[in-house]
Amino acid sequence: MRKKVIAGNWKMNKLLGEAVQFVEDTKDKVAAKGQVESVVCAPFPYLPALAEKAEGTHLEIAAQNMHFENSGAFTGEVSPAMLKDFGVTYVVLGHSERREYFAETDETVNKKAHAAFAHGLTPIICVGETLEQREGNQTMTIVETQVKAALEGLTEEQVKQSIIAYEPVWAIGTGKTATSEQANEVCTHIRKVVSESVSADAGEALRIQYGGSVKPANVDELLAQSDIDGALVGGASLEADSFLQLVEAGAK
Ligand code: PGA
Repeated sequence: MRKKVIAGNWKMNKLLGEAVQFVEDTKDKVAAKGQVESVVCAPFPYLPALAEKAEGTHLEIAAQNMHFENSGAFTGEVSPAMLKDFGVTYVVLGHSERREYFAETDETVNKKAHAAFAHGLTPIICVGETLEQREGNQTMTIVETQVKAALEGLTEEQVKQSIIAYEPVWAIGTGKTATSEQANEVCTHIRKVVSESVSADAGEALRIQYGGSVKPANVDELLAQSDIDGALVGGASLEADSFLQLVEAGAK
């Protein structure tokens, strides 16, 4: 049985005081790690403070991106070694906003996935099609290409530990959620792709989240699907109460 992962992606929101307050309000209320993994993906400057506050609790702190190199002349970037040093445990890679606005490619996502494992960070790798691609019946091909490219060269064990977040671009921040059947259809395909290209065991173990306008009102139905093992949530993760409701749904 795959353990559910609920991750709140704050994106570029909250000031430091609000971020710390959120962790204060949730860290002792999230369910035990045996039932569900609860993750908050916060802006870089808050990571050390949040990781320190969440230490010893069941709340995990994640970054929303990173560079793939350890150190060097990369002005404005943050390295995996720094994230590890801060106490960060997960990192979101290849979010569609990074692909669209910051030139993230399948190739850099793959380099970052390797770097994440080299530093003991769990990658949450985002994939998903645009509306145009869905309407052109390209969803499965696009997602398959993104998944294979992201996981290329990882060991079977690393693939088993990876998390894929299937986020249809047209459903992000739009209030338009994919139906649970639409979401599951793609997640099932992702699992099949991993089973065929890596191994049946890896396909079975890899966790696949759905993301795109997930909220307390629709999370149960999504998580009840056969191949959806959690959610990556933007808007509905900003308030502590709403985040806790999502975590509770994951722990059921
Ligand atoms: P949303 O964002 O829940 O606000 O649609 C999801 C995401 O971008 O991860």
